[in-house]
Amino acid sequence: MAQDASSLVSPLKCSRRGEDETETRKSVFDPHSLDSNLIQKMGYEALVWSSLHGLVVGDRNSQKSGKVPGVGLVHAPISLLPMPFPESHWKQACEVAPIFNELVDRVSLDAEFLQESLSRTKKVDAFTSRLLDIHAKMLEMNKKEEIRLGLHRSDYMLDQQTNLLLQIELNTISSSFAGLSVLVSELHRSLLHEFKQHLSLDPERSPLNNTVGQFAEALSKAWAEYNNPRAVVMIVVQTVERNMYDQHWLFTVLKERYQVRSIRKTLAEIDAQGEILPDGTLVVDGEAVAVVYFRAGYTPSDYPSESEWSARLLIEQSCAIKCPSIAYHLAGTKKIQQELAKPNQLERFLENKDDIAKVRKCFAGLWSLDDSSIVKDAIERPGLYVMKPQREGGGNNIYGDDVRLALQRMQKEGMEEDAAYILMQRIFPTISPAILMREGISHKEHVISELGVYGTYLRNKTKVIMNYHSGHLLRTKVSSSDEGGVAAGFAVLDSIYLV
Ligand code: ADP
Ligand code: MG
Ligand code: MG
Repeated sequence: MAQDASSLVSPLKCSRRGEDETETRKSVFDPHSLDSNLIQKMGYEALVWSSLHGLVVGDRNSQKSGKVPGVGLVHAPISLLPMPFPESHWKQACEVAPIFNELVDRVSLDAEFLQESLSRTKKVDAFTSRLLDIHAKMLEMNKKEEIRLGLHRSDYMLDQQTNLLLQIELNTISSSFAGLSVLVSELHRSLLHEFKQHLSLDPERSPLNNTVGQFAEALSKAWAEYNNPRAVVMIVVQTVERNMYDQHWLFTVLKERYQVRSIRKTLAEIDAQGEILPDGTLVVDGEAVAVVYFRAGYTPSDYPSESEWSARLLIEQSCAIKCPSIAYHLAGTKKIQQELAKPNQLERFLENKDDIAKVRKCFAGLWSLDDSSIVKDAIERPGLYVMKPQREGGGNNIYGDDVRLALQRMQKEGMEEDAAYILMQRIFPTISPAILMREGISHKEHVISELGVYGTYLRNKTKVIMNYHSGHLLRTKVSSSDEGGVAAGFAVLDSIYLV
């Protein structure tokens, strides 16, 4: 529900410093009541800023925009102004990021836990099954990943009723928007400065955001650990990628700041051009590869033929550093998220009681579909649940009445298909007014937001070289939409204004 309109003082008015904190929290940030001339002016400035600073994506109306850089660019879908977000919850998400990084690392080392937790899923989900096969092959070979690099993004929604920050999921593969998240924060700060008199908002309340710098630093340090000055970082890409500028940002910073070269290859190209030397070195197109960074390979459509699977296997067998390794990839599945939420599971991987409590506090209700009482409840009250398969990239979940229909069908058919899914408590964030900009046009909408906090982790054997929270991203979508993908066209990039 939107905030109480009766407490509206003036548009975008926030309490001045020194006023009591509860006042600040209550203060209303209502961009809908801004003067339409002002909205137009700010929108125009936002479009100019985005175009000049590279806050751009490929335009789906232009045919070559997913293949050729510089062709068919459009400003990224954005929120015109940052979204008020409680500072305490933002800090909470930053504080748990290193603990989640460590948790992923520990889970990735427990091969039996991964294989066992996903064993029922394996029978009914061909994609997860193939990933597990690669994982099993590595176990057979006794393959050890001594240098481990994690570039994660843990996503949260703030549940309105309980005021709890609850984790939606933890992405361990292809966590996107390291580049554009920084830019949208900068855009918002610049608008807050420029229109200060009209908005009376404090630009300092928009926290600095350096995801791209920290991701590049992590990649450069991983590259240095590999210790071959001639080697490159290889970005595994999809054949068509409209979010390529986000990726180019990261690799431009890597090149300019750390003088590390990179190459972009699809899985099919890696299959055709790749080989492993007797010493384990991965060579692709004549270049030794130090780090493989995946921005593809997380969804079944990235593997249209056996070539792509053999490329994934080739990478895994090599001694290149994988971001992520197959074990990190599996540790980020929804099934593992659900297993870790069971009683006494976190204790298997973490020792520190405070850390365990902090992580657990972020867990929403998560259940396996072999829990008959939850399935019964979900059939009766489907709106309170989300049903999730082991997929990434948005657009795969089941909501509302479809949850009931899917569960009933599976019950009737008595198949094991239910093992492909988990059930999750549906989170209901506060609905706020916002102005969203797409293709040069501003829209007044009622929206909900999802906070993503990035994490970087690098270790070599027993030495933890990096373990940090590393920037943030807010994604905002119209409240009537179930799914939140920016690339899928539902959500926009946004940033936080601390309250
Ligand atoms: P993916 O890996 O495909 O991004 P997610 O688990 O993040 O899968 O789900 C996609 C989107 O669905 C999220 O960005 C969010 O908007 C919505 N969503 C997922 N889980 C929940 C939930 N428990 N409550 C409300 N919305 C959810
Ligand atoms: Mg995901
Ligand atoms: Mg997601």
